[in-house]
Amino acid sequence: MLAAIVGHESIATRSSALSGAAPADVAAAFPTPASDLALDAQLQAQATAETPAAPSLTDWKALTVESGQTLSTIFEAEGLPHSESLQLLTLSQDARQLRNLRPGEVIRLRRNAEGSLEELSYELDETHTLQVRRVDDQLEAFTIAAELEKRQAEVAGVIDSSLFAAAQKAGLSNRLTLELAQIFNYDIDFALDLRRGDRFVVVYDAYYKDGKKLRDGNITIAEFVNKGKVHQAMRYVDKKGNAAYYAPDGSSFRKAFIRTPVDFARISSGFNLARKHPILNVIRAHKGVDYAAGTGTPVKTTGDGTVEFLGKKSGYGNVIIIKHGQKYETLYGHLSRFRSGLRAGSKVKMGQVIGYVGATGLATAPHLHYEFRVNGLHVNPITVALPRANPLSKSEVAAWRAENAGALAALESISMQQSAMVQDFSGRNATP
Ligand SMILES: [Zn+2]
Repeated sequence: MLAAIVGHESIATRSSALSGAAPADVAAAFPTPASDLALDAQLQAQATAETPAAPSLTDWKALTVESGQTLSTIFEAEGLPHSESLQLLTLSQDARQLRNLRPGEVIRLRRNAEGSLEELSYELDETHTLQVRRVDDQLEAFTIAAELEKRQAEVAGVIDSSLFAAAQKAGLSNRLTLELAQIFNYDIDFALDLRRGDRFVVVYDAYYKDGKKLRDGNITIAEFVNKGKVHQAMRYVDKKGNAAYYAPDGSSFRKAFIRTPVDFARISSGFNLARKHPILNVIRAHKGVDYAAGTGTPVKTTGDGTVEFLGKKSGYGNVIIIKHGQKYETLYGHLSRFRSGLRAGSKVKMGQVIGYVGATGLATAPHLHYEFRVNGLHVNPITVALPRANPLSKSEVAAWRAENAGALAALESISMQQSAMVQDFSGRNATP
């Protein structure tokens, strides 16, 4: 009813604009195309005189960048002026990224009534979008930042054949499955220890943009029940931003040392307390391990510590001794040179390059002589049980639990349900 009235009124208005052309009633009842067009032109002219007309825009067009294409060839294919593609690149720092288009990326654009570029949009990365707009006939660029939404996600599974099969069935991505295996790698040998009925719960972050899942984040907390033994790991990020997994009591999953100080090296002489020395030709204990490697091969410190000695020492040649806390020391001998800037007192991080393989001191060929001392006693670096990295303090554990209460609660509730189901299942199996 309302629509009819509005319609009638609009016709009446139009008719009055056509004063004298035809009786109002006739025009209203039998509007002719010609009179309508004339009317529209007149109305439009009126509107234009009052406020500038909004230019009619085309729909957005999405162009997928093909191999070998540049912004300029895309503009050419679209019939847009070459000069504008060049101008675009100078609009802002972010707009310069249009210079390095990669195949598969998408450029969205739309034109105005004259057919020239009115707007362009290009995703710079997962949270930033470049927007180009024509304002007062000049192209302007803006960068729009989107917030990623972090949501908690949970996945649980029971091992039937392999971890990967169970994880896949549960919907855990390959990346997070690998991460899960790596977290518990120190306690569970996934090749030998895995049993049918072992189970896991993983609580992790998932990132969403505009309500759509973009990608998985990190595992916040995970549980793996292997042969009835419960293993749990929580992700802790320290003040410097280093992330590592710890047991719920704060003990570390990581070792305090890596086993080998050189990559791709061959052991040319093992730890032997009654070895005949190749140069001196007398029985002399070999209190370390020799790694044969080319001169200049990087040598890495096997643990965090402080350089205790750096310099020449008789048979060792150029040697570095590193102290790791009160109990442990490592030694690296026959080096061709030291890392520049390194000196006694320098702090070093596990895996950091400290020097380079050489044949200084008593050496027949380039190799690294590596020693591992516990409380001043030489031990075999190949077989020594490596200590765990420093644990978290009680207050750090408490802070983590407070901050991740939601993830903890989710893990505990899923784990309880899972445990009940597994027991129920095995119980039913036992009953004939
Ligand atoms: Zn040696």
